[in-house]
Amino acid sequence: MSESEVLVGFGSNLGDRSRLINRALKAISRLPETSLLKLSSLYETAPVGYLEQGAFLNGIVQLKTLMSASELLACLLAIEKSLGRERIERWGPRTVDLDILFFADRIIDEVDLIVPHPEMARRLFVLEPLCEIVPDWIHPVFCETVSVLLNKHQISNPLEEPCRLVSSPLDVAHSKEKVEDGIFYRYSESG
Ligand code: ATP
Ligand code: CA
Ligand code: CA
Repeated sequence: MSESEVLVGFGSNLGDRSRLINRALKAISRLPETSLLKLSSLYETAPVGYLEQGAFLNGIVQLKTLMSASELLACLLAIEKSLGRERIERWGPRTVDLDILFFADRIIDEVDLIVPHPEMARRLFVLEPLCEIVPDWIHPVFCETVSVLLNKHQISNPLEEPCRLVSSPLDVAHSKEKVEDGIFYRYSESG
């Protein structure tokens, strides 16, 4: 099995959001045959779909893994569950949501796994952090880079409220010690 580079999007809008995200990232960094490569800033965004819920913190992590896409999905769903995720209503509030956005340059269309994530080109809170860390990544279905997709999205949605950048990953996010400590973002709810 060869190594794949993967982009995983994460979001939280319930509980201590940045702490939950840090715990999810720590759990991902400890998955077998997997390591983190790059982390985006954290962005705060208004909810989509079901609107009567709190704002989200969103971001993206780039990782490499020897796992298959379906193995990785099973691990991500298990991490969501371990952090208290309950699926009550679609697009409802959640402690942590982990989506596979890209899995190398693969196109996957299975009952429980669609890659690239089908909604991503319509979501600013995905396109913004993607452009921050992998602007030249080519979307294998649209055959365009994520920076072109962001640009097109902004042109067709000129009135959309931009994502608010709330925190950068700590400079030391790549140091092994900090990964072991699971400290990726420092973010204060009041600030
Ligand atoms: P959305 O997919 O619109 O972002 P959501 O993240 O709220 O919505 P969930 O309830 O978290 O949806 O996921 C429902 C199911 O979606 C998961 O159990 C999983 O099997 C499936 N799924 C399909 N494609 C993907 C993907 N690329 N990444 C994560 N889950 C996926
Ligand atoms: Ca999602
Ligand atoms: Ca999901």
